[in-house]
Amino acid sequence: MNLSKKLYILSFGCQMNKLDSALVSSALIQAGFILTESVKDADVVLINTCSVREHAEQRVISHLGHLKHIKKSRPDMIVGVIGCMAQRLGDKLLEHEAVNIVCGPAQIPQLAELITKAVNEKKKELAVTENIRRSAKENEHGALEDFESAYSSEDEIIPSQAYVRIMRGCNNFCTYCIVPYVRGPEVSRPPDTILEQIRKLADSGVKQVTLLGQTVNSYKYYKDERTWSLADLLIAASQISGIEWLKFVTSYPSEEFFDDIMHAMASSPKICKYLHMPAQSGSDKILKAMNRNYTASMYLELLDRARSIVTGIAIAGDFIVGFPDETEEDFQATVDLVQKAKYRNAFIFKYSPRPGTTAEKRWLDTVPDDIKQKRNAALLDVQEKISDKLSMEFIGNVEKVLVEGLSKKPHLNSKDSDNNPQLVGCTGTDYIVVFNGPVSLAGQFANVKITRTSPLTLFGELV
Ligand code: SF4
Repeated sequence: MNLSKKLYILSFGCQMNKLDSALVSSALIQAGFILTESVKDADVVLINTCSVREHAEQRVISHLGHLKHIKKSRPDMIVGVIGCMAQRLGDKLLEHEAVNIVCGPAQIPQLAELITKAVNEKKKELAVTENIRRSAKENEHGALEDFESAYSSEDEIIPSQAYVRIMRGCNNFCTYCIVPYVRGPEVSRPPDTILEQIRKLADSGVKQVTLLGQTVNSYKYYKDERTWSLADLLIAASQISGIEWLKFVTSYPSEEFFDDIMHAMASSPKICKYLHMPAQSGSDKILKAMNRNYTASMYLELLDRARSIVTGIAIAGDFIVGFPDETEEDFQATVDLVQKAKYRNAFIFKYSPRPGTTAEKRWLDTVPDDIKQKRNAALLDVQEKISDKLSMEFIGNVEKVLVEGLSKKPHLNSKDSDNNPQLVGCTGTDYIVVFNGPVSLAGQFANVKITRTSPLTLFGELV
């Protein structure tokens, strides 16, 4: 098929969504599309949506309003909504005047065909999973596997890096979360396929691969009378020639395979010493209401174990503040956990009820927004002081950095005496490093001596 049309993709949400967008754009380019950066030029506009927070959905609706306006002068423009919001709202979204195609995450392999049909038959196209909690049919799995393997490629923006999904869906049903209702049941991908995909990426010059899963540490695949865990996968991937760094996100606080994964990390310099493991709250009452199957002390015990097995591990956490009925005392328990956890970084979100989740059905959104805002700022403040202190410990160290390219912060864009621009890179422990150097270093490893720090960024000089 050669459609020779201009394609514009806008992506919201997590890394999983960004990966879907990358696969879709790679597939459509092979089908003859040309990417454009201007929505006004586009023949086809795809919005890859996120349903995790209300705000992300509101932004999509406002973009659709804008597209409706553009379509008045360009009625042939095709607008497709893909991703979690497409699966959540299905035909309701198709009723929007601007929308031609609604396509769920499991149907992305059909997109080229859906676009062709929308163009030729001039009618709206809907492709979503009817019963999302029923395991996907064999043919759907096969199509997703083929799609993933065929179009997996280096990150479009960051050279030498790639993301590889190792599992889909989630079975945890945290009461606030929409993911199990839009991404379906947890399914681990076959290790052979994943390793083959990583081998191909390495052959094309990729040095760092990040393995993705909603609960990546629960990866489990039965094959030839043995169970493959994330630890097995990491070890096997670390033996692929050309792969220098392996990362994985996001981990769920669970005992299962935890020590194995930490031992794998300790044993191989290629498995980066970085663990992103959301706690969400430090209050046992709130954790229970969230259906997170651990207590604050169990969580902290896992962090202790991680640190005792992996020297120098950097840990990041996520938190939700203002969950229904979160009292000041509950919030203080969260502050207490953050102080004990000594995260290198924490991502903090205000609770927003998601339609269809247990929390939305069971409880009112009782914490007023100004209190959520106050708790959010207070927790950020606590974390910032911890991050600042931890960052300062790097001063004088020489850090290995995978260089991403030019720094995008104009205020940092000074040049050094050799007239080198400011570059940005990342350490194995996920610290952002800013330094001056030649642009040709993008996609290469460099050693940087750290001279100055801020809570989340290290600044230094190329060694
Ligand atoms: S583990 Fe919980 S928060 Fe994470 S995707 Fe699954 S249900 Fe959502």
